Order: sequence, then structure tokens, then C-alpha cells
Amino acid sequence: MKKYLITSALPYANGPLHIGHIAGVYLPADIYTRYRKLKGDYVIHVCGTDEHGVAITIKADREGKSPREIVDFYHKNVKESFDGLNICFDNFSRTSLPLHHKVSQEFFLRIYEKGYIYRKEIEQLYCANCNRFLPDRYVEGTCPFCGYDRARGDQCEQCGRWLEPKELINPFCTICGHRPIVKTSFHYYFKLKDFEKPLYDWLSSKAYWKENVLNQALSWVRDGLEDRAITRDLPWGVPVPLEEAAGKVLYVWFDAPIGYISSTIEWANKVGKPDEWKNFWLDPDTKIIHFIGKDNIVFHTLIWPAMLMAHGEYTLPDNVPANEFLNLMGSKLSTSRNWAIWIPDLLSKYPSDYIRYGLSHVIPETKDSDFSFEEFKTRINSELVNNLGNFVNRTLTFIKNYIGLVRHNLVGFRDQDLEIISEIENFPQQVGNHLENFEFRKALKEIMAFSQKGNQYFDYEKPWSTRKVDKEKTERTLYLCASMVKALSIIIEPYLPDSARRIRNMLGFSDQELKWEDAGKWTFDRDMELSKIEVLYKKLDESSNERVMILDENKREERAMDYVSYEEFMKMDIRIGEIVAVEEIPGTDKLYKLEVDLGDHIATLVAGIKSAYSKEELLHRKVPVLVNLEPRVLRGVTSNGMILACDVNGKPVLLSPDSNVPPGSKVK
Ligand SMILES: [Zn+2]
Ligand SMILES: [Zn+2]
Repeated sequence: MKKYLITSALPYANGPLHIGHIAGVYLPADIYTRYRKLKGDYVIHVCGTDEHGVAITIKADREGKSPREIVDFYHKNVKESFDGLNICFDNFSRTSLPLHHKVSQEFFLRIYEKGYIYRKEIEQLYCANCNRFLPDRYVEGTCPFCGYDRARGDQCEQCGRWLEPKELINPFCTICGHRPIVKTSFHYYFKLKDFEKPLYDWLSSKAYWKENVLNQALSWVRDGLEDRAITRDLPWGVPVPLEEAAGKVLYVWFDAPIGYISSTIEWANKVGKPDEWKNFWLDPDTKIIHFIGKDNIVFHTLIWPAMLMAHGEYTLPDNVPANEFLNLMGSKLSTSRNWAIWIPDLLSKYPSDYIRYGLSHVIPETKDSDFSFEEFKTRINSELVNNLGNFVNRTLTFIKNYIGLVRHNLVGFRDQDLEIISEIENFPQQVGNHLENFEFRKALKEIMAFSQKGNQYFDYEKPWSTRKVDKEKTERTLYLCASMVKALSIIIEPYLPDSARRIRNMLGFSDQELKWEDAGKWTFDRDMELSKIEVLYKKLDESSNERVMILDENKREERAMDYVSYEEFMKMDIRIGEIVAVEEIPGTDKLYKLEVDLGDHIATLVAGIKSAYSKEELLHRKVPVLVNLEPRVLRGVTSNGMILACDVNGKPVLLSPDSNVPPGSKVK
């Protein structure tokens, strides 16, 4: 029996999960695990929340909470999303557990004692007011490259450059705002450079990996590796287990992957076989497979394997099938810009299998992919409802209504039936081959094509008319359709576990009775008495507007964003105009009468910006103007257009082009 340890990247316990996390990591891992279990392999899937690191302490500081409160809340929140989506783990742990601290500290000590960790003095920023060293994200200041004044200590968000906190001009402590000083501290470094050669040799034996992953890993090794700091000065994390290192914790990237080991140990304790984890981690025959997103490739193909090599006892990963990124309607998912669809929102609206189905089609296997609600709804309606749901329901309803049951000892199949029989026999292998290569989208296409063949066969054999003239032929047709339905009820399980269970139960099978290979057996071993037939899927309303789901992560207010068609938008004629005259309008303290140069003519406009701008501030300013707005008379003056400005709590803030633009230029 083959043995698999499957892991999914540990999600940070500092926010809810969105569709990108699920499609990129957890859904493929769950599909693969379910497939392996159906095949009868010995497989466990472990994961847990990553509860350390500055991302968590910063969120806690910002919200006036303790890190503990933050991780408790999001551990539960993340776990509920996984449960709701039927993403199953044999163990879902937490890196803040004492067990994980102990395992990480032992790991550290072992490679420390083997000489792969050394201590190095470094200069670091220190806040005398807060009385602490400041990790990079705790310092902000002016970017030395572009001048942006809120550049973070690790990266400038404006120009994108990676920074060191010491490079910032006018740095300040993000906790108290004081200017930090430079102070000498020390940290522990892992000798990653020592592993260049062993990593290169190891990667060279991985020709079966996904191309995007292997090429990236090899190119990094060829560029040369640097030793890496593995500790930080933080009050939250796994304490460095050395007396001299008070106040220092392990860097989160160092302890997080060790979470795979501690989660396995926790699992072994839970199932009452405390040594069983060794059967996975100490046996080189175990296939360890890490499911991750592409941002994690460097850790799982270089740093983590090097840590395991340094340790020397544990099994190295067999494969790292990393995915690319999922975009949303053409733009990169972003938590900070609130451009995401959060799983709790999706689950409040759709059954889990609908979400799994929609996301399975956009798993970013070889390149970035895109999610849109239009495509999602079309797929549910035309594929789940009209294809799979239709085939299952018409087959089972016909059997129930006209034959009563599927007789196991049916005979008399003829040549024209052989084609369908061979389809059934080959089905598990065809889908399985794709799954073994992590080609989840291709495998799903095979499944839907098989269901489509079922519909075509049903249409061709016309049981609704043969049942009146040739009862035996009708029974044979429905027997083979039932056999296809049974096959589907097994093969769809990795993708659609709820549907799979419901179909099997309708057919009269118990939950655990069928294995992967049973899908290729077209005969029934016993008479199948069908239970109550229920409709599998319901059509979605394609006209409803799902964009309300893209919500502010914190406020979660319903924000309807109605579409405007491109044609409607293009009807608006917006141009840059230069204000060439400003006059008061008697009897109002809000309005100005403006003359605006629009290139080919000068328009008179009335604008409600008097409370915010003086005449001098307005004169010769360039502003966007909606030119073809219906003329309106205000206080006796006809206004032929409208100045466009931001509305900041009711106060107008003017916009201006950021380079010299001639009046009349079109804005679109
Ligand atoms: Zn910059
Ligand atoms: Zn401070």
C-alpha cells in the first residue's frame, strides 16, 4: 500500500479565507487527498493555522487586542470556512500550541548542535521609548528611492523596492511614532549556503515536478543562496531555546513548516497511536506532498528541504505542486484594496458543491486564472444543472417510475451497448491519470464529458418511447445509465463530495461502500432498490448581481456595485477644462460662476465649491468637466456642465491631471 502525507500551506490566522486561497491551495489538496483515499492508499492530510509573525502582532496592535485574541478568532473563522466547504483534514492544528513550540525548539537545537546555525552581531533599529528592537514592519519612513513618506521597513509600497529599515530616511516607530536609534543586537543565521550543492542534486532528481515550480527553484539555486536570519526580537512566537537568547523568537518562516510535523504528531496522539507519525516522517518511502501557492515556492523547494537535510532524520518532500494565482474579474486579489470574495460570504449564498465546482474550473494550475460570477453561474446552470444533474435525475426517475429497481442479473446486452460499457471501464483510469499529474481541470472536464455521453446515450435510446414497445431493451438502457450514474457517484467525490454521497444514497449504496476502482465495474452485484429521488441542483438566477459580495473585509457592509455598460459610460463626455474666470453669485455662499476653457469653446458652469476654495486657488486650475450634462439654471445662471471632484465627507476636493494637459483633452 502506498503511503502519502499531504500538507496544505498553513493559513495565517489574521484574516478570513478568500477564493484565491481555496482555488490555489486547499481545494486541490482536498481533491487529491480524497482521490488517494478512494484508491485505498494510506493517506493523511494535515494543516493548521500559522499563528506567529509580525503580520499578527501588527494587526493586534492596530485593533487594540492581544495576539492571542486575534489568532483565536481567526483560527475558528478559518476552520469554519474549511468545514463549510467540506475541505477535510485529518488534523487541523495551530502553531501556538505548546506541542508545536516543543517540536520547533527541538528542531532548532538539533541543527544548532550540528553546526548549521551561527550567531551574528547586527545593527538594528531600536525604539528607546517602547524599549524594544523593531522588526522591519515596525518601522516606517521616507523611501530613499522614490521619496514616498510611508514606506515600510521591508518594502516601499509606492516603488515596490525591497528595503532594510536602516535605509529609510526619517524612520519612525509605528507603535509610538518616536524616532528609533541604531543599536547592536544579534541574531541566529541558518547556513543555507552550505546546501547549494545538495539542493541542486536533489532538485535535479525531480524532473517529474511541475515545470513552473522546478524551473523557479533551480534558477534560484543557480543564482546562489545566502545564509538567512532565523530569529527576531518579538514578544510573540516560539522562544529561541538558548539561555543567551532571551526575548528572541524563531522567525515565522522557520517554525511554520515545522508545523507539518507537529500537526502529524498531534494527529497520531488523537488517533491513539502516538508513534504513528514516525511511520510518515521517518520512512523515506512516504510520499510527502506540499500543496502551496507560488509565493511559497522558495520556502518549500529550497529552505524547508535544506532545514530537513540539516536535521537529517526526516523524509524530504516528494512533490510540491504549487499553483499560480487566481485573479478576480481581471484584477489581482487584494486584501488591502478589498478586492476579494470572502468564503464566509460565498457560503452564506451557495451550497458548498456549487462553490467547489466553480473554483475547480479556475484552479491556476499552469498560469494565473480568473474568476467571474458570470462564468460561475453559467457553469452551474449549463454544466451542473443541465448536464450532470439532468443525467442523474432522469435516469433515476425513469428507473423508479417504470422499472422499480435495477436487476443485478440482467442479460442480453448487445453490440451497441459495448461502446458504453468500455467507456465505463476506462473512466476511472482516465480521470485518475490526470489527478496523479495534478491536472485537476482536465480531470474535471473528463468527468463532465462522461456525464454528457450519458445524456447522449439516454437521448439516443429513447427509453420514454421504447418502454411502451420493448420493455427489455428499456431495462438494458437504464441498467447501463444506472451504471454510469454509479461510476459518477464515485469519480465526482473528490470534487463534489455532497453530491456524490446523495447520488450513492439514492442508488441504494451506503456511504463508504464504493472505492475508486468500483467505478469501472459496470455490473451490479445485487438488485438496487432506489430510495427517494431528489433533485440534485437548482438553477441560479443569472440576472442577480453578485458583485455585492466583494465586501470590505472589516466593515462587511453590503455595497451594491451596479454595472454600467461600456456604451453607457462612453456616452459621458468628460474633458479637461481650465478655469479662466471666477465670479461670485449674489445671495449664495456656496456657488461660484466659472468660465472654463474647454479647448474649442468656453463654457459657463455653476459649481458648489465656494466653501472649500478661494477664487485665487481656482483661477487657472485644470479640472475634469462633464461637458454633456443637461443644462440647468441655478440662481439665474445657466450651467452647461459639471466639475468632477471627490466628495470627502461632503467637502469637495478637486482633481487635477498630473502632467501638463491641453484644455479639451478627453477623459476616458
Ligand atoms: Zn519607494
Ligand atoms: Zn516606539
